[in-house]
Amino acid sequence: MTAAREGADGAVGSRSALATGTAYPSTEHGEVSLPSPVPERMRLLEVGPRDGLQNVDATIDTALKIDLINALLPLGFDRIEAVSFVHPHAVPLMADAEAVMAGIDRRLGPTRIVGLVPNDRGVRRALDAGVDELNFVLSATESQDRWNLNRSLAGSIVLLESALSMAVAAGVPMRVTISTAFGCPFEGYVPPERVLDLARRCAELGAAEICLGDTTGMANPRQVYSLFQRMAESVPRVRRAVHLHNTRGTGPANLLAAMQAGVDVFDASLGGLGGCPFAPGATGNVCTEDMVHMLHAMGVRTGVDLVALLDVARAFEGRLGVPLPGQLLRAGPILDGLTPRNDYDAR
Ligand code: ZN
Repeated sequence: MTAAREGADGAVGSRSALATGTAYPSTEHGEVSLPSPVPERMRLLEVGPRDGLQNVDATIDTALKIDLINALLPLGFDRIEAVSFVHPHAVPLMADAEAVMAGIDRRLGPTRIVGLVPNDRGVRRALDAGVDELNFVLSATESQDRWNLNRSLAGSIVLLESALSMAVAAGVPMRVTISTAFGCPFEGYVPPERVLDLARRCAELGAAEICLGDTTGMANPRQVYSLFQRMAESVPRVRRAVHLHNTRGTGPANLLAAMQAGVDVFDASLGGLGGCPFAPGATGNVCTEDMVHMLHAMGVRTGVDLVALLDVARAFEGRLGVPLPGQLLRAGPILDGLTPRNDYDAR
């Protein structure tokens, strides 16, 4: 074991390398950099408990949701999207948002808790329940907004304006996620100008962060890189984030493309939990442990303990009773940069 294999936390060996992303061969053997530099640290929003669970067929009881969030809290995530404050009639699975929030043990970790809100009433409920941040979702296209949210795009903007002013008054940061920013199942290719106009409007209204979502997995890396580059120019001074689905296998490549455009915030879901409403059975959000593994292997930090994360993913898969699409769960991580290991828990 050489000194170069020591992790930032001083621990020695593969577990440290896996946890911190500091001692893989990629960073040890003088490999040249990628043509476009990528951020040295990525900030993760774990969306499994909300976006992920909302899109699985199984019935999930409140205790399981609470257990999952509490298991994720000590792992080093920047944020966890825990609940949604949409109307219980619209998404019955999220009707227990207040109960879930009450069950979260904040002593387990400093991770900030995010709640999804569709309107003023959702903001009020979220603030009362004690979330740290809010996430407001709207679609980039009219037809998707009507299908998914049952309102017009103009109607969404009115709701956003009101919700954002409440958030600003309460001093709670609100992110705006523009879903179907790259492709729409009804309208196809989404013109970048439309997304940028919408992003500019959200920034003017006070959004703390703007996330572009590929909810239906239609984006490609060139498109992702291009749109985020243009966003940096035309909507400066707002934090950019990316929400990717791996529906057609382009998720990891799209993440790398976003990183090359300087995006350092991304969403991912434990075990790849989730789905796609337009492709039954298709893979959902990019898988957290797969992405953390890729990033750590590249020497990019996430702050997340990958070994502990895999333990949580495997345990949760068992409790859920359905196989999760995450690939690391099947193949095992590459602990020392050379040897795939399925017995990673024998550390
Ligand atoms: Zn998603």
